[in-house]
Formats: sequence, C-alpha cells, structure tokens
Amino acid sequence: LQGLMMDRPLLVSGILEHAARAYPQSTVVSANAAGERSRCSFAEIHKRVHRLAHALVKLGVKPGDRVATLAFNSNRHLELYYATAGIGAVCHTINPRLFPEQISWIANHAEDSLLFFDTVLTPQVAGLVSSMPKGIRYVALADGPMPAEAPAATLDYETLLAAEEDSGLYDWPEFSENTACALCYTSGTTGNPKGVLYSHRSQILHAFAEIMAFFKLFGQDKCVLAVVPLFHVNAWGLPYSCFLTGTSMVLPGPKLDGVSVFNLMDEEGVTTNFGVPTVWGMIMEEVRRKGRKPQTLEYGLIGGAALTAPLLKAMEEFGIRAAHGWGMTETSPVSTTTTADIINGPANANPRKLRQGVPTWTTELKLVDENGHRLPHDGVSRGDLLIRCPFVTAGYYNDPVATAAAFDEEGWFRTGDVSVIHPTGEMEIVDRSKDLIKSGGEWISSLELESAALSCPGVAGAAAIAVNHPKWSERPLLCIVREAGSPVDQDTIRAHIGTRMAKWQVPDDVVFIEALPMTATGKISKLTLRERFRDFYAG
Ligand code: ADP
Repeated sequence: LQGLMMDRPLLVSGILEHAARAYPQSTVVSANAAGERSRCSFAEIHKRVHRLAHALVKLGVKPGDRVATLAFNSNRHLELYYATAGIGAVCHTINPRLFPEQISWIANHAEDSLLFFDTVLTPQVAGLVSSMPKGIRYVALADGPMPAEAPAATLDYETLLAAEEDSGLYDWPEFSENTACALCYTSGTTGNPKGVLYSHRSQILHAFAEIMAFFKLFGQDKCVLAVVPLFHVNAWGLPYSCFLTGTSMVLPGPKLDGVSVFNLMDEEGVTTNFGVPTVWGMIMEEVRRKGRKPQTLEYGLIGGAALTAPLLKAMEEFGIRAAHGWGMTETSPVSTTTTADIINGPANANPRKLRQGVPTWTTELKLVDENGHRLPHDGVSRGDLLIRCPFVTAGYYNDPVATAAAFDEEGWFRTGDVSVIHPTGEMEIVDRSKDLIKSGGEWISSLELESAALSCPGVAGAAAIAVNHPKWSERPLLCIVREAGSPVDQDTIRAHIGTRMAKWQVPDDVVFIEALPMTATGKISKLTLRERFRDFYAG
C-alpha cells in the first residue's frame, strides 16, 4: 500500500529559501587574505544568491554544467554553492593546494565551463590558463581592482552581481532531487583524482544526519567557524547544516595560522570550530600561549584524521569539548561520530572519545576479512570497513575503472580503512589499508605506533611508515618532530613505545625531521615520507 503524501523534491534552493525566511538575521562573517572582515545576514546572502543565479544564466550556464571554484572560505564561495545548485548546475570546488597539473587534470576531466577564483590565487590561475579546458571563462572574487596578471577577459564577481540589482528574485526551477549539485575530487594519493558527484537529495539527507549527530552544536544561538575548507568535501556539509538551523557562520579566508583563527573565534563569538587535527594543533598552541580558550568556544569538531590522546587532553584542560567524526569525500563525509552523551559528558579523557564513533542516521557499516566474510562487531576483530548509505557515492564521475574496484558484490563501498567495531556500535579505525605495515607477515598499525610515540614527552609530531626491509619485507620507521628545545632521543622513544606495544612492533629506528609533510587537505603526507625513506634499509 503506497502512502498518500506529496512527492515534492528535496532541493538545495529550498534550504536557502527556508533560511532567509526563518533566520534572516543570522550572519556570515568572512575574513579576507588581508584579515579584513565583512558581514552579511542570511537575508542579504539570499538576495546576493538570487542575483548570482541571474548572472550565471546570462553567462550561459545551463542545468548540469560544472562551475568550478578555486577559492578559500568566504561568503562569495558560499553564494556560489547555492546559486549553481539553485539553477540545476554543479558547483565543482577545486583544492587550490593541489599541484597545477592536478588542478588542470581535474578541470579537464570535469569539463568545467567557468572558474571563479580568489584574487590571492591570481598568479596560480595565470599559470594554469594554457592547460585548462577550452573555452573556460574566468571570474575573479575580488575585493578591489582586478589584478594585472588575471587571465584576459576575466570578469569581476561584484560587477556581475551589481548588474542584477533590479532583476528581482530568480524563479528557482523544480527538478528531480537526484539531480547533481556538487562535485568534489578526492586528492588521489593513489592514481588520478576521482570525482564524487553529490545530489540535492544526498546533501540534504547528509545535513539532517549531521545536525542530528551534533544537535547541540547548531542553532540560532550558535556560531560555527568553518576552518574546514569549502573545497574539502563541501566543508563537511556546513553550508547546508548551518542554513537549515540558522547557525551563524564565520568563514576565515586563507589565513589559518593559530593566532588568526584564535582571534576570529574570540572576537566573533564562535561556539564551535570544525577542523582537521593539524589545525587544532596550531589553535591549541595559541590557547596555551594565552593561557585561555577563545571566550565563547564550547566545542571542537575534529575529523579528517584521528583525534589523538594529547590533543584531547589539551582541549579538555582548557574547557573545550571534543567531538570526533570520521568520513571520506565519498561519504559526504560525516559517517560516524562520537555520541552526544560522551561529547557532553565529563572532561575525563574518556578513551571512547578517541574512537571514530557510531554510524550517523542511515549509515550502515560492514566489517570483512580478506575473503570478504563478515567479522563480528566484538571490538577485537580487525577487518576492511565497507559502508552503505543514501549519502555514499554510487560510482565515480566518468570513471568506470575506479568505480568497478570500489564496491563489493553486494554494492557496499570499500572505504580502504581497516577498523574494529565495538559491541556498543562504535567504530574504531586501526589504519588506512595502504598505511598498515606488514612486518614478517604480521600487521602493525601505524596509528597505534603514532599515538604511542605522541604520548612520549618531548615528541611534537609523529608519523609511522612502512619501509622495505631485506629480512622482514617491511619494517616500521618512525619519523619524529621534537618539541622545540627537547633533547628526546631514539632510545627514550623506543623504550616508551615498548611499554605500550609488543617488542617486534617497536620500530628499530627513529628519524628526526624538521616538520611533517602535509597533503593538500592538511593531513600528514605519508606518501612523501615513504618516498623519502623508501631505501632506509636498502644498504
Ligand atoms: P584523502 O585523505 O584521500 O584526501 P578524504 O579527505 O576523503 O580523502 O579522507 C578520507 C580518509 O581520511 C578516511 O578514509 C580515513 O582514512 C581518514 N579519516 C577521516 N576521518 C578520520 C578520523 N576521524 N580518524 C581517522 N582517520 C580518519
């Protein structure tokens, strides 16, 4: 028996209209490269998005067209999300920290027709022009005059909007909720980048799931700082979740050092910041220096890489509640989170906060051994993690080869992560399968080694990698960044790890390096370290 309810599509334009009606006074504060701030209410953003929609259509953007951005977090970037989706086009956010060849590869693969770019990135864009898709047009998100090196015929964003001042509201079209609205490429640590094409429906369901998981973090009395970039998995869904709940937003632009981020939070009444552990490390340095947290900050949302015990301890010491989440570009991304009772419970360094958490609404997890047989959720059995959910990708954009490899025969997506699932339903990542170290046929978790090393006094940063070994095929090598002035040495670190892990798992060698190399999304680049130290035991 079918239900007798209206089949109305879930569309991103509906989020914008709701936000403007229900929360016209909520605000979006943007900081630019010079650190200057501007503010817009949701009502003003709404008007600007409608103007932008008119402008996009006049520029020839048609439903399904990919409109690229190369930009940091700002209200203009956010407006592009809503205007492109509203007219049925696709907002394709590109990570400016990628290599130029990767950016042009991605833009060509996506066949982008327009590129909106931040003026601080003008030299980079000028260098890309010859390798970008034929006929692509450029629009500068400029605060002032057009930079001289901008590509010929570059348009100016604010001029486009000003020309539409009297055009009135754009009449949003209606179409299937399964229509594409956003495109994001994974950073491609192996092989070429792969495109994940989100739909209106998937973005909205994901936003619901995120708001439910972190319901105390959103609301009209809350203010979210999105350090997580709009080009990194749609800033973890924040543009949608904040607008659905009337949560004010702060968008920090390109200046993401600890001092700038601390001051933004302190001065703009931020209650939650969303960021990767590397960013949190920089923030906590500033918190320690000042001896206090930003005044209104209540929560720190950590994802993209594991929350470590020392980071959790530091946050709790200063009264910041840690909320931990796991996900991938392919999963929209928020797929598991710490539960609200633990997030809001006592600040007692509860090790359950370090687990990646329980599945979000509609997310299902499956753990299998190397033969694809299901493993029990007993907190001990380690296996490959697979996922199924209405906001998990069903296939990569125009990439049948990568798509064929990504799913098992039951249609579950292979995450590439190795994990355990506890009887409580909490998932705990053991490692990424490509980061695991197989020494003499036995697996060693790089994450476990790193957290053991990080708990050793004097260690500021740690990365464990597999290096080829003539006898054991692979051995772990520990790359360590010392705290400034610390004399901590190899023997001390090895002895410290030896109190926590089996003897054969303790690395035979520790190398001290100046800084850990980072990927374009702010995670430790193990690939770079593996290349650098590949032949460590070769001699
Ligand atoms: P990439 O790192 O390849 O750019 P993503 O940004 O989509 O791709 O990252 C997804 C991966 O990041 C996950 O598969 C997992 O290995 C890691 N990750 C994300 N969140 C966490 C977390 N909370 N704890 C541990 N690992 C995480």
